[in-house]
Amino acid sequence: MRVGVLAVQGAFIEHRQKLSSMGIDNFEIRQLQDIQKPFDGLILPGGESTTQGRLLKDLGLFEPLKDKIQKGLPTLATCAGMILLATQITGENYHHFGTLPIEVTRNYYGRQLGSFHRQIQYEGNRLDLMFIRAPIVKSVRPEVKVLLKVDNLIVAVQHKQQIGLSFHPELSKQTFFHDQFISLVRAQQKS
Ligand code: GLN
Repeated sequence: MRVGVLAVQGAFIEHRQKLSSMGIDNFEIRQLQDIQKPFDGLILPGGESTTQGRLLKDLGLFEPLKDKIQKGLPTLATCAGMILLATQITGENYHHFGTLPIEVTRNYYGRQLGSFHRQIQYEGNRLDLMFIRAPIVKSVRPEVKVLLKVDNLIVAVQHKQQIGLSFHPELSKQTFFHDQFISLVRAQQKS
């Protein structure tokens, strides 16, 4: 199994470290040539979605990655990554990949004071959630599964092979959401 981590901007190193700590082979996607060889899963990290969107186009990665995601490549998208997947961005008339039928609101908690940490219980696990200028999911299409709400706001969703998270699981000690993602990759490999 090989997992590609988009590495044009943002918090990709922490995702790579997390995958490596789990014994998962991973590599950086920086240019078109990096995705010529087959791979089994994709991580879209946090960062700045507008910058990432522009770089993806400039580097010629946008269409090929969109095509792979649409065809069912398991994808874990965190924070800015989730904004890249969303079909709708509140107050904007553009979207990026538009493969995940949700509306996201960018910088929901404010730009400067918007970073915080929460401990929650989820499916029997204690999880640390790190929010950094995070988006929230304002609404989802009926086919999208809501995985988690915090303060009654949707912060984690899944639609087929795509998982979208408002927070940064790569910055916490747990591997819970990366494990979920790797389960999707394994299931896909078997099918
Ligand atoms: N505020 C960023 C954006 O809108 C996302 C923040 C993050 O990824 N930590 O793209």
